[in-house]
Amino acid sequence: MSGRERVYSTRAIVLKRRDQGETDRVLTVYTPGLGKRVLLARGVRRPASHKAGHLEPFAHVNLLVAKGRTWDLVTQAETIYGFRRLREDLDRTAYAYYLLELIDAFTEEEDSHPELYDLLLMGLSHLEQTEQPGLTVRWFELALLRLTGYQPQLFQCVQCGASLEPVTNYYDPERGGVLCPRHGEGQHGAEPLDVGTLKVMRYVQSQPYEDSMRLNLTEARLRDVERVLARTVRTVVERRLRSPDFIRALQHIS
Ligand SMILES: [Zn+2]
Repeated sequence: MSGRERVYSTRAIVLKRRDQGETDRVLTVYTPGLGKRVLLARGVRRPASHKAGHLEPFAHVNLLVAKGRTWDLVTQAETIYGFRRLREDLDRTAYAYYLLELIDAFTEEEDSHPELYDLLLMGLSHLEQTEQPGLTVRWFELALLRLTGYQPQLFQCVQCGASLEPVTNYYDPERGGVLCPRHGEGQHGAEPLDVGTLKVMRYVQSQPYEDSMRLNLTEARLRDVERVLARTVRTVVERRLRSPDFIRALQHIS
């Protein structure tokens, strides 16, 4: 897209939306070529609007956008795929919103990252199809951490580099992964990591999605993996919130 062009078209996934004024909506979307964008959709809350139905969260859409001085404006919207089955199931809907929140929290505006777009689209598609929505979300978290440069080290001690033994090791997301018992025990921020949980995380991190979905895990195991990954995601998001880039971006918005 050259600077002179006033209109561009893009595929997008709607991350979130908020009402603006009487009839408008501000949309945050994720696009393959332009990364995260904030767009204004004028008049979509009018009953007669043709665009409204296409601009729901996690809808996969084609947009025609006009460049504006403060906001880029959505001039046309059509649905590529609406993920209707996802919307009909409350649990899956909640999981889908979580994927959108993760993408939002891990990205800056206009920082293009096509692989993240593909990941989000794939994540939503898997979530719609899978018999294992919980494990699908764990797969998504690990893939997101990898693509954004925060992949936890699960094979070697992050302090001494020694290969990890199949025993209870320790996990510290602040230090980027697993610590051997010698370096993890008693360390502030390092929590014991069950060897079964470590194995599941390694497998999901390194094997194709379909293979990971064949894992037959107990509820307790799934919850433990969820807990460890939630801690990891929280650490990364908190670190991003403190980063100079993020603070600059905030100043730019306000
Ligand atoms: Zn060590």
